[in-house]
Amino acid sequence: MKNEPDSPLLINFAAMKYALVTGGSKGIGRAVCCTLAENGFYVLVNFNSSPEEAAITLSLVKDRGGDGELIKFDVSRQEEVEGALAEWQGRNDGKVIQVLVNNAGIRKDALLMWMKNEEWADVLQTNLNGFFFTTRFLIKDMLISKFGRIINIVSLSGIKGLPGQANYSAAKAGVIGATKALAQEVAKKNVTVNAVAPGFIHSDMTRDLDEAQLKAMIPMNRFGKPEEVAEIIGFLASEKSSYITGAVINVNGGLYT
Ligand code: NAP
Repeated sequence: MKNEPDSPLLINFAAMKYALVTGGSKGIGRAVCCTLAENGFYVLVNFNSSPEEAAITLSLVKDRGGDGELIKFDVSRQEEVEGALAEWQGRNDGKVIQVLVNNAGIRKDALLMWMKNEEWADVLQTNLNGFFFTTRFLIKDMLISKFGRIINIVSLSGIKGLPGQANYSAAKAGVIGATKALAQEVAKKNVTVNAVAPGFIHSDMTRDLDEAQLKAMIPMNRFGKPEEVAEIIGFLASEKSSYITGAVINVNGGLYT
């Protein structure tokens, strides 16, 4: 079939941009899926253990006039990541995921003195190795298509270090280092790699924290909303951010600069 200018279907197909958000089922990832949908992306909503929550995200994407699909894999398992993404590529010949938001993350806090091997290993495996498995698989197509946006959700904890989070701080600091290194590897091909470092944001991850006590340390005197993180990710995913790479952008209400 020829790509006739008067064929809206083909024009739309050619213009369709694909974005993958790991951990899109809840919290910050859900807000990112919604923002990307509003910005015209077809959104692949990744989830691991929360299919119902992921389905809610997808319906919110559609409510915003967008489209997308669910894609299940555990970012900490290389075979699952590569299997699910290869399967998607097999069904979507010629389509390229040009935006990757590495958002999936967990925390398992403990003082280092008492930290169990699994608490250390699980947090590194999901937050750091998960970034590696997903990014390594998708970056090749971004380089070939000479456009890509990789946005890694890190944390204040990976910049400042937070007591009780040696595992999480190490993982997020590791992703920050990888962000800066990879940004230099791929810049010539129009692929940018940036990190966004939230402070305290309302989500399941922060539900058990004492907000009344913690907010006293935050100049804005409140926790942030997932949507307030998603906005900058929407910008970094767009063509407008073309000269920003290797950056770490704080979204923390002034808590730490
Ligand atoms: P959340 O509400 O707990 O959501 C975490 C998301 O990660 C869920 O969608 C979850 O999916 C997914 N996930 C966890 N393990 C996964 C795995 N192995 N494979 C695939 N998906 C997995 O947390 P959030 O606050 O939105 O956190 C999102 C990101 O922001 C994380 O990287 C977190 O470290 C970072 N962050 C959060 C804050 C904060 O204050 N909330 C601050 C700084 C940084 P399932 O439920 O489907 O498994």
